[in-house]
Amino acid sequence: MNAVPAGVPFDTAAIRARFPLLARTVYGGKPLVYLDNANTSQKPACVIEAVDRFYRERNANVSRAVHALSEEATGLYEGARTALARFIGAGSPQELVLTSGTTMATNLVAYSYLLPRLRPGDAVLTTVMEHHANIVPWQLVCGRTDAQVLAAPIRDSGELDVDAFVRLLGPRVKLACVTHVSNVLGTVNPIPELAAACRRRGVPLLVDGSQAVPHLPVDVRALGCDFYAFTGHKMCGPTGTGGLWARREILAQMPPFFGGGEMIREVRIEGSTFADPPARFEAGTPNIAGFAGLAEAVHFLEGIGMVRIAAREQQLLRYATARLREVPGLRILGEAPHKAAVISFLVEGAHAHDLATLLDLEGVAVRSGHHCAHPLMQRYGVPATCRASFAFYNTEAEADALVAALLKARALLA
Ligand code: PMP
Repeated sequence: MNAVPAGVPFDTAAIRARFPLLARTVYGGKPLVYLDNANTSQKPACVIEAVDRFYRERNANVSRAVHALSEEATGLYEGARTALARFIGAGSPQELVLTSGTTMATNLVAYSYLLPRLRPGDAVLTTVMEHHANIVPWQLVCGRTDAQVLAAPIRDSGELDVDAFVRLLGPRVKLACVTHVSNVLGTVNPIPELAAACRRRGVPLLVDGSQAVPHLPVDVRALGCDFYAFTGHKMCGPTGTGGLWARREILAQMPPFFGGGEMIREVRIEGSTFADPPARFEAGTPNIAGFAGLAEAVHFLEGIGMVRIAAREQQLLRYATARLREVPGLRILGEAPHKAAVISFLVEGAHAHDLATLLDLEGVAVRSGHHCAHPLMQRYGVPATCRASFAFYNTEAEADALVAALLKARALLA
């Protein structure tokens, strides 16, 4: 997975040159400072070209025809599955269902795995730091079965209260769901420890890897979880791509969730039989061009090396955190010792949206709002935060630009 040795110097300028959008300006010539990577990442030219090449040279549907183009399209699509499976440490490509993203992956688990197993009084355990995509699907199926969603608390620092999580893993819990990396706090959760606790109690563990796969080396089997969901557009790939990894024996037991073409073995009007996983869960024409692009994104990330990417982003996190602490009245939410380069903050006397609007006028793109994490906002008693989220192509100079824009905004709002 990490072919490039960790010690090779990180050439940020050369890497940035591969992302066409990073060269653009906004508002009449201000350089774009893109610090909204937790929302979606930018795309290198090789990914954009792979999507373009698919439509120019290879466009055909997958698995349905014997002609050359269809075989090429199928090869690209299955090649993406193989590349992604290797990238996340899956035992085989057959353990990886290709989805439109994390949201589709968690909904698939909710309806195909969980719903048939839930009885009145059962529960799903999640945490208060989850994205809505790792809360709402569980609520929907629990609502149908008189089951309940429980949420493990966090500490003020943004760390999960692991003892409380383990205490809540009672006999009623049919599935535990936790994010690998928080999209708001940056907290990296101790997945192997949580997975071991879940295993001791016979509770399967789903991990939301949306914010981990783009930033850390991930090995799903070493983590010890049962399901791992991720999304392509945050890892330099196209929107509408992602995946669900699950243990082979679990996937084999899961009934189909969507019905349609390509997921069947045989269809009669009286009833149908279904294909083996992962095809069983991939009804209809998939985002073939998107997966051609995502395969390129995987090669691109592997070419840099995930160990080096993680190390570089830690440098950026340390630098940006220290610089942000110089801004009077600024408070950072999420100070876990083990965190990714996501910095949520509030500035005394300024609403997060006003602040983000003023930063934007300086060319600095951050996100403001609840970040699809209402329960987390409630936990901290705030309606919204500003969030600067870094990728390996960001620079210390961009962190400086953020701080300069914040100081200017603060003076305007005072
Ligand atoms: N989980 C987390 C932690 C996320 O950050 C996001 C995206 N913001 C999602 C789930 C949902 O991803 P998608 O919209 O690509 O399905």
